[in-house]
Parts: sequence; C-alpha cells; structure tokens
Amino acid sequence: MKDSHGRTIDYLRISLTDRCNFRCVYCMPEDGVCQMGHDEILRIEEIERLVRVAAGIGIKSVRLTGGEPLVRKGVVGLVETLTSIPGIENVSMTTNGVLLPRMIDDLKAAGLSRVNISLDTLDAEQFRAITRVGNLDDTLAGIDAALEAGLNPVKVNAVTVRSLNQDFLEFAKLSIDRPLHVRFIEYMPLGDTSEDSGTGWGKADVIPSEELCALINEQARAAGLPELRPAGASKPLGWGPARYFEFPGAQGTVGFISPLSRHFCAECNRLRVTADGKVRPCLFSDTEYDVRTALREGDDEAVHGVLLEALGAKPDEHHDKVGTDRKMSQIGG
Ligand code: SAM
Ligand code: SF4
Repeated sequence: MKDSHGRTIDYLRISLTDRCNFRCVYCMPEDGVCQMGHDEILRIEEIERLVRVAAGIGIKSVRLTGGEPLVRKGVVGLVETLTSIPGIENVSMTTNGVLLPRMIDDLKAAGLSRVNISLDTLDAEQFRAITRVGNLDDTLAGIDAALEAGLNPVKVNAVTVRSLNQDFLEFAKLSIDRPLHVRFIEYMPLGDTSEDSGTGWGKADVIPSEELCALINEQARAAGLPELRPAGASKPLGWGPARYFEFPGAQGTVGFISPLSRHFCAECNRLRVTADGKVRPCLFSDTEYDVRTALREGDDEAVHGVLLEALGAKPDEHHDKVGTDRKMSQIGG
C-alpha cells in the first residue's frame, strides 16, 4: 500500500507493553513512567486481529517492541500466531536481551527470525549507570543466545550520547569475529526534553553519524586496524534506514542510523502502534489514531479504516521537530 507521498508502507512496529525491566536514562524516568492500566493495553487477541487486518493492506513485516516485549505475558504464542498469518513474511523483535537466554528456543520455534538487541556500552559500570538497574552480563548472554540459536540477522543497537563517552571502536569490533550487525543510532529528542525531566535531551549530546564514522576510523588507525569500508553482500536482511560499513574480512557489519543528521523520511515504510492501541504515522509526531475501540468492537472494517486513515496522514518528513508527548518506552522503539 502506498501513502500519499508515494512510499510503500509494509512494516508495522507494535509495542506490546510500556513496562520494562530496565530504566534507561534516555528512555524512562528513574521511577518508571506512569504505567498504562491492564485494560488500556491491547490484548494478545486484539494484536493478532490487528495484524490480520494490516496484512490485508499490504503489511508484510512486523516488529514487536515496547517497553520490553519479553516481559509481556503470551509473547511466544503471539509470535507463533503472527508468523502464520497469510501475507506476514517476517516477525522480529527489539529487546534488551535479558530474557532471551531462557526464551530464545521457544521464540525460535514460534517462528521469530530476527532480533535487535539494545546495548549501549561494553563497560559494566557504565551499563549499570545507563540502564540504572541492568547487568551487562545479562544482555551479553542474550546476544550469545540469539547467535547460538541461529537467528539471522542479530543486530546490536547502540544509542550514541556524547556525554556518555562510549567506547565506539570496541563496539564496532564486535562485528569482526561473529556475524553481529552493530548499529549506532543518533540520540533522538523524544518525550519531555527539558532539563528537569530527568531524561533530558540536548543537541550537544547528538553525535552525527558522519562524525562518529570518522572517529571510529581514526581510532581504528591508531589501533593498527583497517578502516571501515561500505558493506557489500554482507549487508544484513531488513537493512532499513541504516547505512552499512564493514571491517575487511569481518563476519558482521557496522551500521549508522541517522534520524537527525540525515533523515530517512523519504524511505519511511512504517506505521507504529502503541501498547494502548494508538496508530502513530510518524515517530516524531504526536498525531495518533485510536484503533483499540474498533478492535474491541470486533469491527474489522473500522480497523481497516483507522489503518488507512493513519497511512494517509503520514507526513512527508519530521521537519526537525524536538520533543514528543511520549517517551520511546511509551511509543514503542
Ligand atoms: N526494551 C527494548 C530495547 O531496549 O531494545 C525495546 C524498546 S526500546 C524503547 C527500543 C530502542 O529505542 C532501544 O534500542 C533504545 O535504545 C531506543 N531508544 C529509546 N529512547 C531513545 C532516544 N531518545 N533516542 C534514540 N533511541 C532511543
Ligand atoms: Fe527499557 Fe528499552 Fe527503554 Fe531501556 S530502552 S528503558 S530497555 S524500553
């Protein structure tokens, strides 16, 4: 299905919950966000119904996210049902990885094909400071589990924040010995960005992808390593908005996602659905379309109508808007 700017929209990102077992500094306040009530959140059967209707308008890929999707009860059964819906070609997930070691076999058997694991640092103390409550080893074990289970591709997403002073070369090197696709994502202004919000965003903290790529190459040269070169055939499936590079001979790649320094709005192929059943045409816009009411009324035609309305409302680009009503954990990252 094409939107009014001629883009093919075939990708749906669904937030399963606004709850999370982490409290990442850029995503949630320390005490968690004001959580949605159980009744507000789409039920598993409602999500299945939504995806059936969405497949009818041309959605082919579904990504489950959150909050942390793996804390949502019924997630394995949901994956199994979604992968069996005619027209749905792949179901993937974005997770902090903590619950993967104990769930990966069931998820794989249910048909999960790809996973993105979020990890911003390889330093245990810094990991704890960023996530406020997490242990680095748990997320690393999640990455190991995904690779051992043979998921492909396994991507590692790192948000880059200048004041955090992350070790980007060490990160990029994760792509050398194993088929890991490391992606650096520019820090985005989501939610209340004021200083007293506890999760503030400042322009000074954004590291434009080009600057970061040059920095990694500089560090690589200093360490006697070859520089990154544009990735060839090894570019991972579902490459989406990232630009991919690789170290010569590496098994994986290094990608840069630049929502701020190089919008990919012209290539945008997605709709988002929040955990409380609002369809969001654009991450950076607070215009939302309620699909929960139609789902609860069992009215597939109305669900279809809401999806088309949201699709028709997709803006041409996000016009450098700063701040949104909701943070990433509420929208679904
Ligand atoms: N809990 C899961 C996880 O962390 O992968 C899924 C949800 S999380 C909101 C999805 C992604 O959004 C994570 O990779 C996280 O780093 C990213 N994210 C959250 N807030 C962000 C921001 N302000 N700018 C850029 N990325 C952000
Ligand atoms: Fe949780 Fe993911 Fe947000 Fe971190 S980024 S608080 S893991 S939802």
